[in-house]
Amino acid sequence: MAKTLRLILGDQLNRQHSWFKQVDDTVVYALFEIRQETDYVKHHIQKVAAFFSAMRHFADELKQAGHHVVYYTINSPDNKQSLSENIQQLITSLGITRFEYQFPDEFRLDEQLKSICSKLNISSAAFDTEHFLSTRDDVKLLFEHKKQILLETFYRTMRRRYNVLMTGKDPVGGKWNFDSENRKKWKGTPPAPAHNSVANDVRDVVEEIRQAGIETLGNIDTTELLWPINREQSLVLLEYFATHALPYFGTYQDAMHTQQSYLFHSRLSFALNCKMIHPLEVVERVVQEWQKKPELISLPQVEGFIRQIIGWREYMRGIYWWKMPDYAKMNYFGFTRKLPAYYWNAKTHMNCVKHAVQNSLDQAYAHHIQRLMVTGNFALLAGISPDEVDAWYLGIYIDAIEWVEITNTRGMSQFADGGIVGSKPYISSANYIDKMGNYCENCFYDKAKKYGEKACPFNSLYWNFYDMHRQLLKNNQRVSMMYNVWDKMSSYEKENILMQANTYLTNLDNL
Ligand code: FAD
Ligand code: SF4
Repeated sequence: MAKTLRLILGDQLNRQHSWFKQVDDTVVYALFEIRQETDYVKHHIQKVAAFFSAMRHFADELKQAGHHVVYYTINSPDNKQSLSENIQQLITSLGITRFEYQFPDEFRLDEQLKSICSKLNISSAAFDTEHFLSTRDDVKLLFEHKKQILLETFYRTMRRRYNVLMTGKDPVGGKWNFDSENRKKWKGTPPAPAHNSVANDVRDVVEEIRQAGIETLGNIDTTELLWPINREQSLVLLEYFATHALPYFGTYQDAMHTQQSYLFHSRLSFALNCKMIHPLEVVERVVQEWQKKPELISLPQVEGFIRQIIGWREYMRGIYWWKMPDYAKMNYFGFTRKLPAYYWNAKTHMNCVKHAVQNSLDQAYAHHIQRLMVTGNFALLAGISPDEVDAWYLGIYIDAIEWVEITNTRGMSQFADGGIVGSKPYISSANYIDKMGNYCENCFYDKAKKYGEKACPFNSLYWNFYDMHRQLLKNNQRVSMMYNVWDKMSSYEKENILMQANTYLTNLDNL
């Protein structure tokens, strides 16, 4: 009897996929925990544990539903630790006559699977993951002949296409975007949710990871992993967000606080990126909650959240498939410095960096503004090589998969793509960090000083950045105001700022 082998990658845990609608005796599903995936970058221990746990749950669910599943754990004696060798081994040992897979989200895996298939002497086919709301090509098709690549244009297309927050052809509330109403500092009230809706005992899987000798980074409480590892838990997390955090999501979306890692964020990125939950069911649940409680949840909260899901998330994926593989090498400013050691141990006097890194080490999580305006901002001001920055972001976050990591890091955060994702570099002095959070209150450095004893490094590095990169940025309308301010400063002021920046850059590891 003809037999088909269907590969399921670790981020393809989509139980709603049409593959699983019917049990078919001629189909064997395969999932592999492999060194190829654990070792291409050093990952956070919570990330490896969460991926393996979620894959194991998924395999068990398929088995319970009657499907035939082969699962290689990381220490299985049969495990060859590489995708191609494991596939080849199963084809031979099970007498497989056809190989099928779902399109991977990563360029490297896409290339690898195409190459594997080209060498097989059986038929093969690739299928849609049935997860995303746009195709790999949608962003390219929308913008390839346009002057400007803009999230807002894509976002409006998606709102119309899926009829989300629309009344006929118009956006609900008369506006597409309520971002200007969404930028408040959080000062202790309203109380932030506890974010304890799911917890998992992962002692066994972590023990196996240790036995395998996989090198990881970061910390873990093995009795209480706070990430969802199956679809049920992903839905619990969504429910928790809709009922506890959504009412303030937009208002405090950019806020940062020393006592809070998550504030009103959803923590849904891991569940979404592994496809345990579908973006449209997230959107629908959020809209439903808003319609149920309009007096408690305002439109800007809901619109702000939906923009992230059907806008940014899909947009980044489209940019990835349009611009890869060249994107991974882009380095607009030609930066070469190494990432300072405090990105790995949080030992720095800069209170904002210390907290953002410590959160990342403890939780495998930092929210968007910590990633963009603290760790990303500092790396850009300090002229760190985008390769170093990418490797750090790709390893440390629970949700880091290249298609969404690299576009956010190399693109949005480091401007290494020269302005494909963002229209200007996202940099700031202490001013913005102090406006959106409480880090500066207890910092060793003085947020108000640009130079001199204990002057905040962000301040001098900020002006130094503009000064150094004038050639590359001078025609960018969005930063021309900053050059006007810089040019109006006295030469005494400018000299001191640049000298201070130079001192900090030569002592980068000791800040
Ligand atoms: P929420 O704030 O609750 O947002 C809801 C959802 O919207 C997220 O779960 C996510 O799926 C989506 N979303 C929000 N912002 C973005 C964005 N800019 N791009 C794509 N999707 C978005 N996100 C990842 O999923 N993986 C990454 O590896 C990743 N790396 C990043 C690196 C940098 C330098 C920056 C600035 C951002 C990065 N992001 C990444 C985007 C964003 O920071 C995370 O999606 C978000 O912090 C996840 O937490 P949350 O689920 O609580 O998000
Ligand atoms: Fe960060 Fe500067 Fe504020 Fe300290 S003073 S927390 S280094 S921005």
